[in-house]
Amino acid sequence: MTDIIQLLPDHVANQIAAGEVVQRPASVVKELLENAIDANSSEIKLILKEAGKTLVQVIDNGKGMSTTDARLSFERHATSKIRSAEDLFQLNTKGFRGEALASIAAIAHVELKTKQENQELGSQIIIEGSNVKSQDVAVTPKGTSVAVKNLFFNIPARRNFLKSNTVELRHVVDEFHRVALAHPGIAFSMYHNGSELFNLPLSNYRQRVVNIFGSKTNEKLVPVEEETEVLKVSGFVGKPEYSKKTKSEQFFFVNNRFIKSPYLNHAINAAFEGLLRDGYHPTYFLNLTVDPKTIDINIHPTKTEIKFDDEHTLYAILRSAVKHSLGQFNVAPILDFESNTNLNTPYNFKDKEGATPVIEIDRSFNPFADEVGQKQPQQRSYTKPPTQDWESLYVGLESKSTKSQGDFKEMTFESESKDQSIFKSEDIALEKTTYQLRQKFIVSTIKSGMLIIDQNRAHQRILYENLLKQLTSKEAITQQLLFPLQLNFSNTDVEMLSQMQNDLEHAGFVFSEFSADEITVTGVPVGVPESEVTIVLEQLISDVENDVPDQNFSASDLLAKSMAKSLAIKTGQSLNVEEQEHLLNSLFACKEPAVSPSHKTTFITLGVEDIEKKFM
Ligand code: ADP
Ligand code: MG
Repeated sequence: MTDIIQLLPDHVANQIAAGEVVQRPASVVKELLENAIDANSSEIKLILKEAGKTLVQVIDNGKGMSTTDARLSFERHATSKIRSAEDLFQLNTKGFRGEALASIAAIAHVELKTKQENQELGSQIIIEGSNVKSQDVAVTPKGTSVAVKNLFFNIPARRNFLKSNTVELRHVVDEFHRVALAHPGIAFSMYHNGSELFNLPLSNYRQRVVNIFGSKTNEKLVPVEEETEVLKVSGFVGKPEYSKKTKSEQFFFVNNRFIKSPYLNHAINAAFEGLLRDGYHPTYFLNLTVDPKTIDINIHPTKTEIKFDDEHTLYAILRSAVKHSLGQFNVAPILDFESNTNLNTPYNFKDKEGATPVIEIDRSFNPFADEVGQKQPQQRSYTKPPTQDWESLYVGLESKSTKSQGDFKEMTFESESKDQSIFKSEDIALEKTTYQLRQKFIVSTIKSGMLIIDQNRAHQRILYENLLKQLTSKEAITQQLLFPLQLNFSNTDVEMLSQMQNDLEHAGFVFSEFSADEITVTGVPVGVPESEVTIVLEQLISDVENDVPDQNFSASDLLAKSMAKSLAIKTGQSLNVEEQEHLLNSLFACKEPAVSPSHKTTFITLGVEDIEKKFM
């Protein structure tokens, strides 16, 4: 019998390893930046073309490599960073696996130039798909430059799997942020297609955060400092009023390494409890320092998850540190027991008559609803679908089936809006054809039984179809703002929005300026309240971030979906009868009423037989 097992040739093994290490241009960026940091550089430059698909180059001024090391660095398991397994438990470098350069060289065209400080000449190596094409002496400054071109040139399947440039650039920028935030003591710059996106001088941590996320960030930051035996915490959290719809400004670093930890994130959320509006997330930039012996960073190939020996203690310390800061900086509401201004009657009011107390009745209060605790003043108003004439849609509906609804009279109060006088409630109840259930569902009768609509999803569908129509026909109606709105975003967000400028304008936005970290809006689509503009744009940014597949990516579709999501009536919002009916009618005027833009069920029906079965 012949033997069939063979050792894989190196270049094949490298390609397989590359699958783990390199998923996209951002992975290359991460590995190269980390190598530059490990080389003790004080200045690092990142240059990209086409979101890194055609070029990722990192130039550093670090310690460089000898000619032999330069050649060896491309071998698998070639590393200068650990010598034995024990070293793994006291890592102070980013890399240690010794497989990044080998993997990258297996799936791209790589050009390395490097020189050590004390040498006259450096070396240059060109490798394509693991084949060394040339190795020469070269005149080059101190430090190392690695240029990675044509990523996945020899694996078309992987290349095709890459997302649009917008999305890939976003991943690269995320990676750049993480590395730059972890190392404020190093100067970083980043260029994309010839233009400078970031220029971050050596600075303290606060300045680094501000340089990355925009000058307005400064006033949003609350310092967090805590030192205990097991954990040192330092950094910032964002004031609650600056919390964001996206989770894009949440950063944990453990021993200068970016990590993701849903568990620790929970600790921060717990510290912010009661301070954030629904759907908003705290921002934070927190550095945790722990004994390297108490963590295991080897758990994940791309190393963003780590294992702590004692997570529970870290959780408790972190939560209390953040809570303490929010309290100390007067951010959390503080109860003042010493003086109650309501009780101090000013002297000149002494002989005045007391005002008659006014009783405000919250008609939408439902003692049986789960959400009692989260009832908040309604800040939003019902947003009309922009193009449709709102009133005309329920003309003729007023008197429909008023009698048959009589039996339900008693159950109708929870959906009524506050501003209707209590004395008229009976008449109104008689006219109802719809009811709101738990400020979430609209219930109505149909011939065959009962109809239950999810108000949020239904409204998303309605807005989505309207917006899409406007976007494709380019006939959105703009409402000029009296005063231009200046909105602050990070410069990557501005860059991303500027790439979508055309589509946004077709949707009805008018911009007068895109500067580094600010955009000026002079017009908004009719129906978008001024107060919602930031929310709409932030939602859009977060949706673009969340990986849009390349093939059927349509900017207008994404924009319509995203805007529909931010503008739709939310769960928890009371709607009056007219609004309920309008929603119902508009939903069934849609092309695809049954599902929301993200393909979730918008309504269900309950047949009379189904109901009858329940009574058997
Ligand atoms: P690792 O970083 O895990 O050691 P890499 O494949 O990323 O593995 O790099 C291999 C080796 O090449 C490193 O251990 C280091 O000695 C050397 N090296 C890589 N990049 C640089 C750089 N920018 N400057 C100096 N040395 C470098
Ligand atoms: Mg490395």
